[in-house]
Amino acid sequence: PFDVLVVGGGPAAAAAAIYTARKGIRTGIVAERFGGQVLDTMAIENFISVQHTEGPRLAQQLEAHVGDYDVDVMNLQRAEKLVPARSPGGLHEVRLASGAALKARTVILSTGARWRQMNVPGEDAYRNKGVTYCPHCDGPLFRGKRVAVIGGGNSGVEAAIDLAGVVAHVTLIEFAGDLRADAVLQRKLASLPNVQIVTSALTTEVVGDGTRVTALHYRDRNHGTTHELPLEGIFVQIGLVPNTEWLRDTIALSERGEIEVDARTDTSLPGVFAAGDVTTVPYKQIIIAMGEGSKAALSAFDYLIRLPAS
Ligand code: FAD
Repeated sequence: PFDVLVVGGGPAAAAAAIYTARKGIRTGIVAERFGGQVLDTMAIENFISVQHTEGPRLAQQLEAHVGDYDVDVMNLQRAEKLVPARSPGGLHEVRLASGAALKARTVILSTGARWRQMNVPGEDAYRNKGVTYCPHCDGPLFRGKRVAVIGGGNSGVEAAIDLAGVVAHVTLIEFAGDLRADAVLQRKLASLPNVQIVTSALTTEVVGDGTRVTALHYRDRNHGTTHELPLEGIFVQIGLVPNTEWLRDTIALSERGEIEVDARTDTSLPGVFAAGDVTTVPYKQIIIAMGEGSKAALSAFDYLIRLPAS
């Protein structure tokens, strides 16, 4: 069995595996897609001490850094079930879609998250052709253009404020009757001259000319009327979904489905730790995921050295 089995292949998982391997303990990584969200990212300019890099390049470097150590990397493997140890100090089992089962004294869960989609016609067809989920990455592509931000929570309002400084005009579209963002953000948003806020609006369709987005359709939920908003970009900010479907009923999750962790990355199961975007730790960023992965590794090591000799 492994001393530590890391599930996931993003920055959190890579950091965890490097830290445990450096302790000389038997480490495995099971990843559906090594690199994680980083693979879908273009410019990265907030990974401190690296002034500028690109997602695929960073993913390659993560893989190379893990490869420097004695880590058993099982890529393109999806974990489907966690069977916790029956007694404290026993072996946990992780079952894979391939049918294989891996055993480990400790498990570090770092399966990350994915952006929630609107699930309307045109969204898939125009992804990266005007539809985007990342204002920090793609905002500058829409300099001087018209965009909509979908979602009036903190991330949507933050995105609208951010984009208003770059693009010509921002329309913020919220499904509910009110924005849910913090009051201070709402005040800031309301003070911006090139932002319009539309509440009680359901996005119904992304419209394009075959190559680029040209408009957004939404329905006014109070009057039932349909409106067309001509624009060039749509930033979808309706939440991040943690990849924990496979863990339901096994481990304590928050209301949003994130794995509940404490400051040491302990979960509700002894010997099972969690790190990165999949957890309740606030702010989903590469540098934070790496810090959490390192913490999880050290916590797992602490747990292992306290197990009675077998
Ligand atoms: P992830 O990167 O989500 O990795 C999760 C891993 O788990 C993947 O390898 C996945 O294949 C694997 N996995 C999932 N389910 C299973 C399963 N059942 N079995 C096995 N493996 C599984 N952050 C920044 O700091 N700066 C940026 O500029 C930036 N830009 C971004 C741009 C985009 C387009 C996106 C999508 C994200 C961006 N982020 C950025 C956020 C950053 O990518 C994440 O915070 C970070 O990748 C989280 O790392 P993680 O290891 O927790 O999870």
